[in-house]
Order: sequence, then structure tokens, then C-alpha cells
Amino acid sequence: MLRVVAIAVFSIILFSNAIHALDFKVFDLTHAQSEDAIAWPFYPAYNFTILQRGFNEDLTGGKVWLEWNSFAMAEHSGTHMDAPCHVRVTEGGLRVHEIPLEKLVGPGVIINVKSKVEENIDYRVTLDDIQDWETKYNKIPDGAVVFMNAGWSQRYPNKTLVFGSEDHVDTTTFHFPGWHEDTVDWLLKNRNIHVLGGDTPSFDYARTTTFPVHQLIGENNIPGMENVANLDSIPESGSIIYVAAFKIYDGSGSPSRVFATVSGATNNWSSKCLIIFMVIFYYFG
Ligand SMILES: [Zn+2]
Repeated sequence: MLRVVAIAVFSIILFSNAIHALDFKVFDLTHAQSEDAIAWPFYPAYNFTILQRGFNEDLTGGKVWLEWNSFAMAEHSGTHMDAPCHVRVTEGGLRVHEIPLEKLVGPGVIINVKSKVEENIDYRVTLDDIQDWETKYNKIPDGAVVFMNAGWSQRYPNKTLVFGSEDHVDTTTFHFPGWHEDTVDWLLKNRNIHVLGGDTPSFDYARTTTFPVHQLIGENNIPGMENVANLDSIPESGSIIYVAAFKIYDGSGSPSRVFATVSGATNNWSSKCLIIFMVIFYYFG
């Protein structure tokens, strides 16, 4: 009898843990890739070509609908990763296929600067912004994926709003916020982060001509993220963020499906109760 109870209790714990592991919500932090995707003006245009869309005579005698397409795009387009080799003082740094996958996952740290950006479109994230976050949520966790939320997702893909300029070709006219190099330097020296980025087209603000933040994180082999979407949908602390970058051999950047999970965001007590009831019924019924 004791053994049966023990097995039953063990099974309940096992099953409820299995359910607990699925007790999370998934949030999409990615803009769809299309010809509207935001990219620097000198990159080649996105090309999506329909090769087959219809009832196929040759392969199926016209009985089966088939679709396939080809696409070509710049690496640095839409929601995408900058590999550490992208912008540096000299050649070096990891290319896309060399970045360890475990370095593309980590606790989400969302630095909300929306109110500051409303007053200054050329805003750069300060050390005060980091300290404010840590005052609210504690020290930035090891392996963090740290994103600036400037509210740019709402502007995407309107080029005038995203680039902060009526001129979409001359990059010297652009205005949008990014990270200050002193803040990033402090993060690299004092915290252990996996990924840095934000929701604007560059994690360096638009007014730069030397891209100091790109250089800094590149030299430290930290990947960067640009045009991340929907940062309002996840909490500023408590998510896990995944950067599912397209594994391009020798790539300097990569379109990515960025998403977050937040545990405990679903409430499935009814299914937990059902499984507990089934286990009890199985052993005692
Ligand atoms: Zn890029």
C-alpha cells in the first residue's frame, strides 16, 4: 500500500512538473520580412519571386495545388542580427555561423526609454536608465539579452517615421535613438550580457558616423539586434528571449525570428487537476 501511494505521489509530481514546463506564453518580437522591410538605402532590394502557385500539371496532372518561391535579401534587413564581424576597427570577430547558439538566448532586459525619446529623438540610453532598471528589478542577470524599447515598433515600416527623415536615401539626414557607447562600455565591463539591441534600425543612434557601439560589441564578440518588434508585449523583466538567426555561412548579419517566453503567463489548473485525477484513478480506481 505504501509503495502504491509513493508511486502515485511521484507520478503526480512528475506529471505536474511536465505540465509546469509547458506553462509559458510565447511572444513574437519579429517584423515580417517583405519588400517593406526597413534596410539601409544602399542595400539591394528584397526580392520574393513566386515560382509555383497553382494546380500543377507536370507533377500532379493538375490534381494538387503546389506553392514554392525563391527570395533574396540583404543580411541587414528588417528584424535582424549584426554578427560581431560586421563593424570593427580591423577584420575579425565571429561570423554568423560561428556564433554559439547558447549565446543567442538569455533573460530579457527591456530598457524603456519611450518618454525620453518623445523629448529627444536623438536620445542615447544612459547609465541612469540601466540603474533605474536595476533599482526596480535587481542586477541584470548573467547572459541577459538587453534591448532598448524606444517605441519604434509602432512606426515600422513607415520609412519617414522609422528613419526620422523625409529623405530615405541620405543617411546623414536620419534621426532615431540608440545606445550611448559609455553605457555599453559599462555593461560590457560590469555585467555579463549575451546580446544587445533595440527596436530602431541601428543600436548606434542615427547621428553617428563612426558606429562606436557596433565597434565595442563587435570587439567583444557580442551579437547586436536591430528593428526588434513588439517590445511592449513582454515584461521589462522576467522573460527569456531567443534570437533564432538564420545560420548563414560566413554571414555578417542575419534575418532572425526573435521571440520571448514568459513562464506562468498561462493558467492551466484545470488540465493539472485532470491529470492528477487520472493518476489517482489509475492507481486506486
Ligand atoms: Zn545590421
